Order: sequence, then structure tokens, then C-alpha cells
Amino acid sequence: MTGPGRSPLHGDHHTDVVVLGAGLTGCLAAWELARRGRRPIVLEAASVGAGATAADLGHVATGPRLLYVEAIRRWGREAAREAWEVQRENHDRLRELLAALDDDCGYRADGGFLLAEDRTEGEALAESEDTLREDGFSGEFLDHYMLESRFGVQGFAAAYWCAEDAGLDPRRLVAALAAAAEREGARICEGSTVLALESSAAGVSAATERGRVEAGTAFVALEAAAAGLVPFLKGRVTPLPAHWIDVQRDDALPLPSPARTCGGEIAWRVLPGGLRVVRFGGGVTGRPADERLEDFTRRHFAPASPRPGPRGAAVAGKSGDGFPFVGAVPGLNGAVACGYGTFGLGWVALSVRWAVDGLVTGRDAVPARFRASRGAAP
Ligand SMILES: Cc1cc2nc3c(=O)[nH]c(=O)nc-3n(C[C@H](O)[C@H](O)[C@H](O)COP(=O)(O)OP(=O)(O)OC[C@H]3O[C@@H](n4cnc5c(N)ncnc54)[C@H](O)[C@@H]3O)c2cc1C
Repeated sequence: MTGPGRSPLHGDHHTDVVVLGAGLTGCLAAWELARRGRRPIVLEAASVGAGATAADLGHVATGPRLLYVEAIRRWGREAAREAWEVQRENHDRLRELLAALDDDCGYRADGGFLLAEDRTEGEALAESEDTLREDGFSGEFLDHYMLESRFGVQGFAAAYWCAEDAGLDPRRLVAALAAAAEREGARICEGSTVLALESSAAGVSAATERGRVEAGTAFVALEAAAAGLVPFLKGRVTPLPAHWIDVQRDDALPLPSPARTCGGEIAWRVLPGGLRVVRFGGGVTGRPADERLEDFTRRHFAPASPRPGPRGAAVAGKSGDGFPFVGAVPGLNGAVACGYGTFGLGWVALSVRWAVDGLVTGRDAVPARFRASRGAAP
């Protein structure tokens, strides 16, 4: 995804904002900042979209990682409804971005699926469907029999089709965002790992091996790596390892796609090149994770015995409460947007808008649940 003129940073540079990371978050932030009159310099360790974004399945999901009934039990009904509403608003914002980019990035609003691996999860899905409908979110509950008669899966207790979910191509989106940011005057430096981020007379100083950017503020868009440069995030945003395998299958029946299991451990999507199945969590070594994935595909995507093809690993970033960290944090002249877990596309558009608004206007527009400074000593 290397673009023309994205050479590494050399020498000292001065600008109003330095953006760290050129994934979906950093490229969108650079575009929004540039459109609002700033001149961002983006420092990216590898190349545009090379981080978690490169492995993203492109499932634009509605709802955080909990089932609706579980969210209600934990937070109360009003707060649960609000969390789902935020993702709906984020989805609206994503559609606006695609229109502004004049590129649909493969967007398809065909819904998405949640799959129950046992009866308890199936009952929770059925209960969630009723409550979601009462609260204005549409979808359809599929029991075991309906599921297996329509789709080429076995061994799930039930499923829920979320009518509002969608799919897109994250690699196309990040490439389009980077190009749009550059058209508006942003400069993207690839091969530019930020080694230190410190307060300075100008505001903030970001040092790479061969250069330095002095800027008024920083926008930190490094997902799990953010904790390495922003001390406040240490222990708050932690790595979420993920492994994936590509699977060939010959079943005539379609798969529910894009989809994830209720617990959020496994997700999959039928992509143009075949079926990709991802496992989140489970340690950083590949072998046990691959075995769990192969076992899962054999159990649920038979009868045509699936043939595992290419495989790979990536790292996302997660927070303890499942909500991203957005906006100002103690000790940083600037803002962060990270800790999305498995739902970057479900949060990124609003998170970046809130954080950029804060940088540009000086007013904190981030709702309390998402505020990056939550948990800080008063
Ligand atoms: C396998 C997998 C599948 C996923 N599927 C989905 C999905 O279907 N739907 C969904 O909503 N979300 C999904 N996610 C989550 C989603 O991909 C992420 O939330 C999203 O891509 C995060 O984008 P980002 O720009 O914040 O982070 P990243 O894409 O990780 O970007 C951070 C960038 O920072 C760079 N960087 C790191 N350290 C430094 C440094 N010191 N200096 C400079 N640059 C640095 C990295 O190279 C990287 O390019 C998935 C994640 C994974 C791993």
C-alpha cells in the first residue's frame, strides 16, 4: 500500500499537528484535520494500513462486544440503548465519509450475524432480539433448524441476523482516506517509527530515527502500540492478538457472513478470495490458536471438509471495559483514539470526529464512557 512520495521523515520539521500511525484512525484523523485547515504530518512505522487495519474483516457491526441482554444487566437499559445508538451514529458517519470520498470501498448493507455456540447463548440471543426490537433495532432470530436449512453451517445453537450491520473493504478505505488526506495537504511519512513523544516548547515533539516533528499537538492513532508512547495508556490499552486462516469450502449453501460468535472469540467473512476465519485472544504463539481455528472450521463449516489455506497474525488493541479511549489524556499535548478491540469500524468514525473536534475547538465533546482520561485521578 506504499504510495508515491511517502518517504521516511528526515531532519527537523515544524507543523501544527503530528499524527502517529497511518491505519484507519490516523488516516481519517489526518484527512479531517487537513480539511479543517491544519497541516498534519503523519508518521507511520511501516506503510499505510499495515497494522490491525490490514487484517480487518470489514464487518461494520452494531453493538459493542456484549449481547444486548448482558449489556442491560451490566449498565441498565438506557445506557445499553445509548451504546447501540452510538454505533448506529458511527455507521451513519461512515456512510457520509464514503460519499465524501466518492468511493464505496466495497460497502454492502446486507446485515451481519451473531452465532450462539451453546443453548445458554442461544437463549440470550432470543431474549436480546425481543429487547432490541422494542428499542428500535431490527433483526431476526434464527433457531438451530432455520439456521441449518438456510446456511452451510452445523453445530450452532442459534443465530441473530443484525439487519443494520454491513461489510466493506478496510484496505480500500484506508487507501482512499490516505489519498484524500494528502490531497488536502497532509504529508504521510512511511518507514518512520516514532521512538519518543515528549512535551516541548512548541507543544509536542515526536522523534524518529532520522528526524523530528515539533508540533502544537499530537494525534495518537497507534492502537495497542499507543501504550508504549503515552504512559497514561499503559495497562489501559493492551494488545489483543488475532490469528486468521483462509479456508476453501465447496458447500453449495452460503455461510452467514460477516459473522462472529456471541463471545466474540471467533469471527469470519466470505471474501472474494474465500472464507477468512479469525480468532481473537488466546496468546501470541500461532500454533494453539491455529488448532482452535481449524477445529472450529471442521466442526461448523462441514460437510465438505474445509481445506485451510494461507494464515497470518495481527494485533489489535483493547480496553478493559470494551469502549475505546478517545480524546485528551493526562500528560499529552493532544488526543488519542485507540483500544477499539474487535470493532474498529464500529467506533472509528465518531471517535476521530470527537477527538479532532477537541483538538480544533479546545472543547471536550467526548461522551464520558469513551473519554480517554476516564479512570484518571481527579
Ligand atoms: C484479524 C482482525 C480482524 C478484524 N476485523 C474487524 C472487523 O471485521 N470489524 C471491525 O470493526 N474491526 C475489526 N478489527 C479491528 C480493526 O481492524 C481495528 O480496530 C482497526 O483497524 C484499528 O485501526 P487503527 O488505525 O486504530 O490501528 P492500526 O490499523 O493498527 O494502525 C496503527 C498504525 O500505527 C503504526 N505504528 C505502530 N507503532 C508505531 C510507532 N511507534 N510509530 C509510528 N507508527 C506506528 C502501525 O504500523 C499501524 O499502521 C479486526 C482486527 C483484527 C486484528
